[in-house]
Amino acid sequence: MSENHLFSRLTAFAAAHPDKVFATGPETSGQSYGDTVQNALRLAAVLCAAGLTPGDRVAVQVEKSLTALELSLATVAAGGFSLPLNTAYTASELSYFLTDAAPAIVVCDPARAGEITPLAKSAHVFTLDKAAQGTLTAALTDARIAPVARGPDDLAAILYTSGTTGRSKGAMLSHDNLYSNAAALTDHWRFTSDDVLIHALPIFHTHGLFVATNIALVSGATLHFLQNFSPDQIIDALPEATSLMGVPTFYTRLLQDARLTPALCANMRLFVSGSAPMLVDTHTQWQARTGHTILERYGMTETNMNTSNPLEGARRPGTVGLPLPGVELRIMDNAHEVPQGEIGTIEVRGPNVFKGYWQMPEKTAEELRPDGWFITGDLGQIDADGYVSIVGRGKDLIITGGFNVYPKELESLIDEIDGVLESAVIGAPHPDFGEAVVAIVVASDPALTADAVKAVAAEKLAKFKQPKQIVFLPELPRNTMGKVQKKALRDSYATLFSQ
Ligand code: AMP
Repeated sequence: MSENHLFSRLTAFAAAHPDKVFATGPETSGQSYGDTVQNALRLAAVLCAAGLTPGDRVAVQVEKSLTALELSLATVAAGGFSLPLNTAYTASELSYFLTDAAPAIVVCDPARAGEITPLAKSAHVFTLDKAAQGTLTAALTDARIAPVARGPDDLAAILYTSGTTGRSKGAMLSHDNLYSNAAALTDHWRFTSDDVLIHALPIFHTHGLFVATNIALVSGATLHFLQNFSPDQIIDALPEATSLMGVPTFYTRLLQDARLTPALCANMRLFVSGSAPMLVDTHTQWQARTGHTILERYGMTETNMNTSNPLEGARRPGTVGLPLPGVELRIMDNAHEVPQGEIGTIEVRGPNVFKGYWQMPEKTAEELRPDGWFITGDLGQIDADGYVSIVGRGKDLIITGGFNVYPKELESLIDEIDGVLESAVIGAPHPDFGEAVVAIVVASDPALTADAVKAVAAEKLAKFKQPKQIVFLPELPRNTMGKVQKKALRDSYATLFSQ
């Protein structure tokens, strides 16, 4: 083995076309592929000079910038494991990650160096701000490294799960987990060097860090690189772009902007959504406003992307499409595959599936079967044409009076009521039923009543699936990836029926 599996594949286009523009946008007048790779190799030299050896972790909690992106390439080149951390994490959360992962190097925002340095223990601490200033870039010289040899099964990243249902776990992703998925998606969505992809996602999560970035690197596309999601900047970028990758909130926010028209999107060929479920209504509105059908896909930190609606052929709202080439998917109940059409736990297997949880062998054994199937924890079903739908996280399943209630069924029904913006259905502890169904509703019409919502449920659903209580909220609690925080809702309403 003499090459660095992931680095050499992610930089193959750059080696052949060093002058092609890798990134445009407010941060750069057009940074080339060649410069991006050279910057990464110079950053890698800084990491190595600070003591990084292959297998060491580089924990990074910084604002999004091209340098931060280069830093993750640099870490791979140096044989380290990238460990990106959500910029929203507080000191006490960081303390858990830094203790768990014991990184050799920590890169943080200069403004937070004072509070993070003591948590970093013996790690070397560098700083980097969103304008690429800090001790990390100050240490750059002309020195650069030759990429360290690494094989397909060596680790490239430890990505902590968002922990919406419990404590975050570090998913260990190998060089080939990342490359194989980037190659499959590039091919499946036909990305080429003619594409201009709007990149407004955070780069501490699989969607922005791996899906959007690695597809561009592999295909030679140009990123229109934005530091965060801003409708104004996206509206400005759309006429010159060909593609956008977003979470559902991007699309609902853009729909509120009168400047969103078919003409604005005339150059676009692909709108992708994922990381959280998109409402059927959003799909419909987007189609009406732009003439484009959003392509929804499904993935997770542990597996990269698993399924996708087709590029050509029917994209079905409310589904996440079909398994990607090379990915197997099955629906299980108690270790048996369920008959087609029935609901069960989604399991996936393929080159995309991670190597286990960092320092959690028991958790790994619980969720990753010896024959390679990963128990995703998502509940889903497959229709007669093979399209997969997700009905919720297993942990969100409500068991009331011994009956299973899948929140999605009631949520979809409530969402269709006039005057409802969206909803989240949870189970709250109940003295008689064990759990009782509670619907949290965000109304667009202030005149909407709980009785009106209950009446619709009573007409359409069996008694045990009907909400015992309706709670109106101005908005649902969401994390930075747009996921509804059901655990937070459950905590808030834990004593609803015991008061
Ligand atoms: P994360 O590991 O933070 O990317 O979260 C992964 C989880 O997000 C999955 O296990 C699903 O529960 C959810 N998810 C991702 N994409 C979709 C989608 N298109 N529709 C519904 N849920 C999704």
